[in-house]
Amino acid sequence: MNISDNLKTLRKHIPENVQLVCVSKFHSSKEITAAYDVGERIFGESRVQELVEKQALLPQDIQWHFIGHLQTNKIKYITPFVTLIHGVDSLKLLNAINNQAAKNNRVISCLLQLHIAQEDTKFGLTKEELTILLNSNEFKQMKHVKIAGLMGMATFTDDEKQVEKEFSYLNETFQQIKIEYFSNEPAFKERSMGMSQDFRLAIKNGSTMVRIGTAIFGNRNY
Ligand SMILES: *Cc1c(COP(=O)(O)O)cnc(C)c1O
Repeated sequence: MNISDNLKTLRKHIPENVQLVCVSKFHSSKEITAAYDVGERIFGESRVQELVEKQALLPQDIQWHFIGHLQTNKIKYITPFVTLIHGVDSLKLLNAINNQAAKNNRVISCLLQLHIAQEDTKFGLTKEELTILLNSNEFKQMKHVKIAGLMGMATFTDDEKQVEKEFSYLNETFQQIKIEYFSNEPAFKERSMGMSQDFRLAIKNGSTMVRIGTAIFGNRNY
């Protein structure tokens, strides 16, 4: 598995205006360094412990994104350094991030996760839950989180029509939410969608941020 060749091939399919998050979960610091050495700076991890260990060991100019399901009691370990938290799917979690960010004197960028897949096993807010969150007084008072956009995960299927439908739904919802809640907020601009299997369809449907692991680092050993 040649990480630099994989990245060279992958980069040809990702336009300049789309950010690549190299999903390095379950991969070693050595493998991350191989990607770093060819210029990658944004890495995504899904487990707090693993992220904290890697952050301490690896170059300090890496921008670490948390892409997993975050438990409130573990937020404090990543708030000193995390650049972006994808997949925030409750007011309770956002509030807890806000509190920890305040203790660190930071404003932490977050993406709200929209439920777009057919499977109900995947996390995320419905559009209605999303608007309830954004309308809440509790949210309006948070000073230490910034909502940078939406994140979503499509159904795991070969049915491209279905996947496209889900990505375009996220994009449409993003546009509506932007007009209604963030028209004066240029930071609200990201649509984090697309993984190794479906990133081309995601980009075609408005993705600004793809999260790719396997196509860079190969299969994970769980
Ligand atoms: C693991 C993971 C990815 C990367 O998936 P690949 O299929 O390896 O590209 C992307 N997003 C999330 C939320 C993940 O947990």
